[in-house]
Amino acid sequence: MAQSEAPINDNGREIMEMDRAHNLHPWTHFDSFKTEGAMVISEGKGTRVKDANGQEYLDAVGGLWCTNIGLGRDEMADAIADQVRKLAFSNTFVEMTNEPAARLSKKLAEIAPTGINHVHFTTGGSTAVDSAYRMVQFYHTCAGNPEKIHVIAREQAYHGSTYASISIGKKAMDRVPEFRFIEDTIHHVSSPDKYRAPNGMSEAEFGDYLIKEFEDKIAEIGADKVGAFFAEPLMGAGGVLVAPDGYLKRMWEVCQRHGILFVADEVVTAFGRLGHWFASEDEFGVVPDMITTAKGLSSGYLPIGALLYSDHVHEVISTGDPYRWFTSGYTYAGHPVSCAAALKNIEIFERENLLERAKEIGTYFETRLHELEDMQIVGDVRGCKLMMCVENVMNKDTKELFPPSMNIGGLIADACQDMGLIVRPINHLNVMSPPLIITRDEVDFIVETLRKGIQQVTDKLIEDGVI
Ligand code: PLP
Repeated sequence: MAQSEAPINDNGREIMEMDRAHNLHPWTHFDSFKTEGAMVISEGKGTRVKDANGQEYLDAVGGLWCTNIGLGRDEMADAIADQVRKLAFSNTFVEMTNEPAARLSKKLAEIAPTGINHVHFTTGGSTAVDSAYRMVQFYHTCAGNPEKIHVIAREQAYHGSTYASISIGKKAMDRVPEFRFIEDTIHHVSSPDKYRAPNGMSEAEFGDYLIKEFEDKIAEIGADKVGAFFAEPLMGAGGVLVAPDGYLKRMWEVCQRHGILFVADEVVTAFGRLGHWFASEDEFGVVPDMITTAKGLSSGYLPIGALLYSDHVHEVISTGDPYRWFTSGYTYAGHPVSCAAALKNIEIFERENLLERAKEIGTYFETRLHELEDMQIVGDVRGCKLMMCVENVMNKDTKELFPPSMNIGGLIADACQDMGLIVRPINHLNVMSPPLIITRDEVDFIVETLRKGIQQVTDKLIEDGVI
């Protein structure tokens, strides 16, 4: 997102200049960064952030799908400060632990789906997915199936940016030629993009097609070689893709028939975004073998991630050879301060009944956002509760996209930003994942501002003869 048009104050300019000179940002085009720099965010409270000019915005992106309880809570600051004073760091390698890590592992076991009672802490979502990938190999080898190391995921999935996690994901725009990816043991099937189902298939036909494609892929690789299926219950960064009804459960049933572990990547979908602690079981009826999570686990206050896994997996990996050990982990795994922040975050969720609130306000958000479907370039509005997206198209009948060079999502995001709203552009999409504490008035503001932003851009495209 570019710096706003308003003249930036001296402090803001200094920050922007030093950032531009030294800070390599994730996923930022070198060229535009050189000319525009980055927007400097200086303060945040609740659903709002301020830039270095003091300009306030409603952050409908929720940081990056993560500020679930809202920014700037004193209680969180106190819990973090107290833990820093008591024990700022202690590692959890080998046979050492700390109180917040122990308490958080128990709490996560309590709120996780059926039969998931074990936690391996990580530093974020990518490292949780990476750990899951390694755990798959470890499990099958311990179970006497060392060949079962191939994994299947979906096109357009995003699972993080370590070498393994970005290889499990497959967003087309991330497969840049300058990087290499693990390709010999990681395979992909179609994304369940209902809006773009091929050959005019009905939802039911598309569902059957996807299941058959998955079964065919397993047969092609060999069921004795496929160790796991990785899936976000609702695909996020790939475009908030809503699958055909019953899809996830049917994919899980296929996994169960072939002894394939189901890894639910709930880095985004957990901690209330869909109105549940975890969406797999409560929203989709799937009981995964492993869950990866991060983001809402601390509502972004501090970095933390976790791989949660089942009693069955634990039984297999922890019995047998007495010298076996899980040689995977991070200095900051089970960091006492991050764990203290996550515990306080969960306490706030419980006390303020935020899961119920997310269901109620999320349903309102969904309903109101669908009103934008009457607009000339809005091809699809989709998502669930507080994980929503608008797909902009050049032609609603053919679903033809604008050329990527036009950056339609970016044009709309910039127009909204000028009106005090941050929405996330991903190519032709505008994606939203606001904090769970968002109010009805704020939802109204998002929908009305987005409508104005889309209309402004549409008018300009008409004026320029593009549409
Ligand atoms: N998995 C999913 C589904 C994600 O959306 C993300 C990040 O957006 C990740 C994994 C990676 O998480 P992190 O950026 O914390 O490493």
